[in-house]
Amino acid sequence: MMNVESVTAGDAARAKVRRMSRILVIEDESRISDFVVRGLTEEGYRVEHAADGLAGWTAMQSNQWDLILLDWWLPGEDGIHLLRRFRQKNRSTPVMLLTARDAVPQRVEGLDAGADDYMCKPFSFEELLARVRVLLRRPGQDSLTLEYSDIKADLASQRVSRGGQPIDLTAKEFLLLTLFLRNPGVVLSRTRIFDGVWGEQYDGSSNTLEVHIKELRRKLEAYGPRVIQTRRGSGYMLDAAPGDEV
Ligand code: CA
Repeated sequence: MMNVESVTAGDAARAKVRRMSRILVIEDESRISDFVVRGLTEEGYRVEHAADGLAGWTAMQSNQWDLILLDWWLPGEDGIHLLRRFRQKNRSTPVMLLTARDAVPQRVEGLDAGADDYMCKPFSFEELLARVRVLLRRPGQDSLTLEYSDIKADLASQRVSRGGQPIDLTAKEFLLLTLFLRNPGVVLSRTRIFDGVWGEQYDGSSNTLEVHIKELRRKLEAYGPRVIQTRRGSGYMLDAAPGDEV
């Protein structure tokens, strides 16, 4: 959810792009479709859902979509068949396949059938969002950059800089940073960060999160003061002027 006080010109521009974007989600597992539809709607996209292959095919044909998220295995007709038929009709709408299949031959089959991208379940919402943004970018449209203080993260190229100095991050560190950049001044609980970056439940025993925070801080702090603050007992917060710890 966007905090009104934190809306910048960049946020407004991104929100405008999102408002214009219509996304069709074809997925029969309600556990996944609920989470994806709710999350994308909260991000400002216009989202519709079809729960089987037949309803999916009708929706694919009857409307103009900016992006289609398509499950591979569907009752009625499989996503991969829908995709082939769609491409045979010369429809060029970007399609992202959602599937538990992650073996290389299936990936190739999906891409050969005309998928633009491929997401293996379970996936983190942050990663889905990052890929959705890339697929929704149109030629001539400005690349989407998240900024906070002197830190910049370009979502398409995944380039990060601080004070103009490039910073090399791993994929997980990039997701972690963008989660903070999208929520400046908000305390993010370990549960929320874990869900957002790893797509998993935080069981409280692993130090994976602490290790990644430490490494991200080390890289960011090579070019400036600490911006990722610890809020003991509650989580972490992006804040350039931290004040007293609460
Ligand atoms: Ca399915």
